[in-house]
Amino acid sequence: MNDIDVVVDRLRATFRSGRTKPLVWRRTQLTKLRDLFTENREAIADALHADLRKPRPEAYAVEVDFPIKEIDHTLEHLEQWLAPEPVASSALAHLPAGSTAGTQYEPLGTVLVIAPWNYPVQLLLVPLVGALAAGNTAVLKPSELTPASSALIAALIPRYLDSDAVTVIEGGVPETTALLAQRFDHIFYTGNSTVGRIVMRAAAEHLTPVTLELGGKSPVFVDRDVDLAVVAGRLAETKFRNAGQTCVAPDYVLTDPVTARALEVALAEAVEDRYGRDPQCSDGYGRIVNERHFDRVSALLGSGRVVFGGRSDRADRYIAPTVLADVKPDDPVMREEIFGPVLPILAVADLDEAIAFINDHDKPLALYGFTENEATRRRLAEETSSGGIGFGLPIAHLRIPELPFGGVGESGMGAYHGRNSIAAFSHRKARLDVPLR
Ligand code: NAD
Repeated sequence: MNDIDVVVDRLRATFRSGRTKPLVWRRTQLTKLRDLFTENREAIADALHADLRKPRPEAYAVEVDFPIKEIDHTLEHLEQWLAPEPVASSALAHLPAGSTAGTQYEPLGTVLVIAPWNYPVQLLLVPLVGALAAGNTAVLKPSELTPASSALIAALIPRYLDSDAVTVIEGGVPETTALLAQRFDHIFYTGNSTVGRIVMRAAAEHLTPVTLELGGKSPVFVDRDVDLAVVAGRLAETKFRNAGQTCVAPDYVLTDPVTARALEVALAEAVEDRYGRDPQCSDGYGRIVNERHFDRVSALLGSGRVVFGGRSDRADRYIAPTVLADVKPDDPVMREEIFGPVLPILAVADLDEAIAFINDHDKPLALYGFTENEATRRRLAEETSSGGIGFGLPIAHLRIPELPFGGVGESGMGAYHGRNSIAAFSHRKARLDVPLR
C-alpha cells in the first residue's frame, strides 16, 4: 500500500467507527478550526504575501475573517439544520394511524477537497467547514501553485484537528491523480473546467458525487443614466482585488457606446484613487501567481484600445490594472476567462443585445447589473442563466452565508456556504416509521 492508500484507509476507518457523527465532535472540530484561524492570522497573511503578494487587509478579510464568520454561522445554526424534517401528516393518510415520515441528513463518509491557488486558504478550508459540520472525514489537497500557503496549512491542520479525520496531502498533478484513483464518498473541486472534467471522469469510476466550483467570464451590464462614479468605484474595487484573480470578479462590461466613453474616464479616476498613479508601488495591489499566468494574461493586453494601464513587469509578475475599450466579441481577451487585472468594455446597442450576447456564451458563475430600472433587473434575472446574480455590487453575494454559492452549466455544479454546505456533504435520507399495530 502506498501512503495515500494508508491515509484514506485510516480516514475511512475513523468514519466507520462513528466518531465523527455526534454533534459534539463536529462542534469541537469547528471550534478548533476557528482557533487555527484566530491564532495564526499573521502566519496566514505572511504565507499569502509570499505566494501572491496579497495585501494584508485583504488576506485578513477574505482568508481569515470570512472563514471565521462561516464557522460562527455554522456553529450557531448547525443543530437546527441537522434536525429531521417531517412531512405533513396529510401525506400519510393511506398508512396506519400514528405513521410518521420525514428526511434526515447523514454524512457521506470520506470526502476529498481539491482547492486552487487564488484564495488558497479560504477555498480549501471553507469547504472543510461543511464537510466537518456534516460529520465527514476529509482529505485536503491544496494548490501546489501557492507553496507557502500549502505548507502552512499542512503544518497547522494536524496541530488543531483530529488527525484520524482530516489529512492534508500536498502536491500537484501526480498526487492529485493518485488521490482521484481512490474511492471517495464525495469530491469537492474548485478550479478550472479542464481539470473539472478530469475530476468528474475519475469520480464516475466510483459513482462518486461531485461538487464542481468552476469559473468563467462573469459579465457586467451597465445601464445608461447611472451614477458612473459609484459604478467605477465598485468595479475597480472588485475587478482589481487580488490582481483580478477572483473567480467571481467582473470579467467584462457591456454597455452602450455613450456610457462606455464616460465609464472609461470614471474607471481611470477610480483606479487612481485606489492604487495611486503607479499601482506597482501600492501596498494594496497584488501580483500574478506565476510566470505562466503572467504570460497568459499579458497576451490579452493586445485586444482593443488600452484606455489606461497596459504596463507589465515580468520579473515582478506585475500587470497594471488595465481597461480596454472598443473590444470586439472575437478578440482574444473575450475567448477565455481573463483571471487577471484586465477589464474589457464592449459596446452594445441596448439591453436586448446585451442579453443576447450573454446567452450566446457559456453560463457564467456570476452576472452583475448596474441599473436603477426594476424592469431591467427583472429581465437580466429572468432572461439569462448564471450561478448567481448581483445588482449594484459585484462579488458581495458570496458573503451572505445563506445564499448558495456555485455555478451552473460550464461554471460548475452544486453549491455551498451555510446550510447549503450541509446539503453538499450529506445524504438526505428518507425515513418512514409505521407502528406495528
Ligand atoms: P489550480 O491550477 O490551482 O488547480 C486547481 C487544483 O487542481 C489544484 O489543486 C491542482 O493541483 C489540481 N490539478 C491541476 N491539474 C490537474 C490535473 N491534470 N489532474 C488533477 N488535478 C489537477 O487552479 P486553477 O484551476 O488555475 O484556478 C483557477 C480557476 O478556478 C479559474 O477558472 C477560476 O474561475 C476557478 N475558480 C473557481 C472558484 C469558485 O468558487 N467557483 C473559486 C476560485 C477559482
